[in-house]
Amino acid sequence: MALIVQKYGGTSVGSPERIQAVAERVKRWREQGHDLVVVVSAMSGETNRLIALARALSHDPDPRELDQMVATGEQVTIALLAIALQEAGVPARSYTGAQVAVLTDSAYGKARIEAIDDERMRADLAAGKVVVVAGFQGIDAEGNTTTLGRGGSDTTGVALAAALKADECQIYTDVDGVYTTDPRVVPQARRLQRITFEEMLEMASLGSKVLQIRSVEFAGKYNVPLRVLSSFQEGGEGTLITLDAEDSMEKPVISGIAFNRDEAKVTVRGVPDTPGIAYRILGPVGEANIEIDMIVQNVGADGLTDFTFTVNRADYRKVLTVLERIAGEIGAREVSGDDKIAKVSLVGVGMRSHAGVAAKMFETLARESINIQMISTSEIKISVVVQEKYMELAVRALHSAFDLDAAVE
Ligand code: ADP
Ligand code: ASP
Ligand code: MG
Repeated sequence: MALIVQKYGGTSVGSPERIQAVAERVKRWREQGHDLVVVVSAMSGETNRLIALARALSHDPDPRELDQMVATGEQVTIALLAIALQEAGVPARSYTGAQVAVLTDSAYGKARIEAIDDERMRADLAAGKVVVVAGFQGIDAEGNTTTLGRGGSDTTGVALAAALKADECQIYTDVDGVYTTDPRVVPQARRLQRITFEEMLEMASLGSKVLQIRSVEFAGKYNVPLRVLSSFQEGGEGTLITLDAEDSMEKPVISGIAFNRDEAKVTVRGVPDTPGIAYRILGPVGEANIEIDMIVQNVGADGLTDFTFTVNRADYRKVLTVLERIAGEIGAREVSGDDKIAKVSLVGVGMRSHAGVAAKMFETLARESINIQMISTSEIKISVVVQEKYMELAVRALHSAFDLDAAVE
């Protein structure tokens, strides 16, 4: 008998029929003798709908009130699932994040889980009940409702699994595992049987939204056995996310390709090539609470240099305003930007022991006449920035060049 935490995403609880299907699945697991804690998201589209309501009233809604409101999406689905389970003859009880309690810091909209009280859940499990918990939400020390950021129910699932020392955390979604790249963009994408935490973290950080970044961080930190599965099919082993690559001999050099359209690029031209210039540009950007991703500083000529970096696309206007403000002070010649860019990244622990991955990537993109605007590398990833309109072409070309395409029967 095992203790299993299952998390069901928005599409998996998107209608009464889907919720009933979840209840049936939970029932089957329970009939095999397992203890079940089930985390659910809001019905698909609901969180967006709620945010749009607030935005109809304000361009910049108060983050506390926003969290107070968006947390209601999950409060609906927990109760519906508990009702469906009871209807199916399974004793069940639902809890909001506050009731469990999932304690977080007070960073509304991106709160971090600090502690979880497992007492209530353990008592219910001991009494033979299925425990249903609202994903995405928590409560801070002052009793305010908080949310964990978009996709945060994954993190609730993993955090509960860690707190309860569950045998496995199963993330049920609308795909049957983690693929070499988003199967919606590349139909030839292949399901991965296994992927390491390290690679999954890179994939998530670089734009693969199948798991929230923090859920993977959490799973890695507490070594929670994590599996991604489909709620739309029976059986199937999904993708297991593990600490180590199984056998590195057979490990492909590249495990997956991630991409991200959420970035914009800005360039400050003709700044004096002197010590402290990066700080004088990026300091004010940081103070404006704008996160920076890739940074490139050109080799200076005639005592001047150019400085380019990327930010979240939502911060594009804001960063331009900051840079235009400081341009005079730092003696910059020009500030320019482009928000029609995309980042495409190759990820794989196999890269560590293989040279030539970058060269092959650049050659593949050159063959498609795709210009590379920026490059950044780490031990297990290479990212390039390209024009947004070439993103899908780049992903497909790389997917096939690195032999990731599924075999065609
Ligand atoms: P849920 O609502 O269940 O949390 P999400 O929409 O957050 O589901 O995540 C599942 C989606 O992630 C899939 O429908 C798929 O389009 C997308 N996705 C992106 N990259 C990948 C990948 N590498 N493997 C699988 N799915 C991916
Ligand atoms: N409902 C939240 C969202 O749409 C959390 C989640 O689905 O994981 O982002
Ligand atoms: Mg999700």
